[in-house]
Amino acid sequence: MISQSEITYDVYISDMIPQADATPLPNGDHPMWQPMSSTLISGPTEAVLVDPPLTIKQTEALADWVESFGKKLSYIYITHGHGDHWFGTKPLTERFPGVSVYATEGTLEVMRQNASDGVPGEFWTTRFPDQIPDVPILAKTVPADGFSVDGAKIVVVEAGHSDGDNTTMLHVPSIGLVVAGDVVYTNVHQYLARLATMTRRTLQRPGNTSTMPKASLRPGRRNCSSSPR
Ligand SMILES: [Zn+2]
Repeated sequence: MISQSEITYDVYISDMIPQADATPLPNGDHPMWQPMSSTLISGPTEAVLVDPPLTIKQTEALADWVESFGKKLSYIYITHGHGDHWFGTKPLTERFPGVSVYATEGTLEVMRQNASDGVPGEFWTTRFPDQIPDVPILAKTVPADGFSVDGAKIVVVEAGHSDGDNTTMLHVPSIGLVVAGDVVYTNVHQYLARLATMTRRTLQRPGNTSTMPKASLRPGRRNCSSSPR
C-alpha cells in the first residue's frame, strides 16, 4: 500500500495572454485572458495531469514542466469543458504516448460546444488566432471503478454549474487534496457571463412571476467607494 508521503502535487500557472480582437477596457488596457492552473498529482512512478492549457505555446511549456518530474504521465483529467482547460490535450498525448484522457459525460458535452470536428469554436479563434492546436476530443469517460495514481485513489466530484455547466473537481482522499478547477477562483474575477445570461433568461421567461429583487443580479465585486444600493 502506498504511503501518504509518497503522493505529492505541484501546480503550474500559465500566465495571462493577450486577447486579439478585443475591445479595450474602460481604463484603456488591452484585455488579457486570465491565468490558468494545471495540477500534477504524482506518486513514486506515475502521475495525473489535471487541466491542459489553451495554446500551443502554453502547452509546450507545461509539457517541459511535466517531463522535469521524470514520472510516467498515465492520465490527463479535464475538470470541465471550457477550451482553456483542454485545448492543449492533443500535443500532450503526442509528447506522452500512452496517456489516458478522462472527463465526465457532462464535461464531454460542454467540450463539444467549445469545438467541433477538431476545430475550436469562433469564440476561441477570434481571441487566439493561429495559437490553438488541433482539438479533437480525445477524452473518454472516467471508468466506473475510477482511477488511481500509484495506488492512490482519485475521486471525481460533480460540482454542477460553477463558471460553466457540468463542472467537476478531483479529490485525492489520501492526501486531503481537492483540485477544484474553475469551481474556485483566487484573485481572479470569476467568469459569470454565462450565469448572468441564464439568470436573465429565467427572469424573462413568459409568465415568470418571480419576485426576486433586482439586487439578486448585482455583481459580487464592486468598488468599495460605491454607495450601497
Ligand atoms: Zn472555466
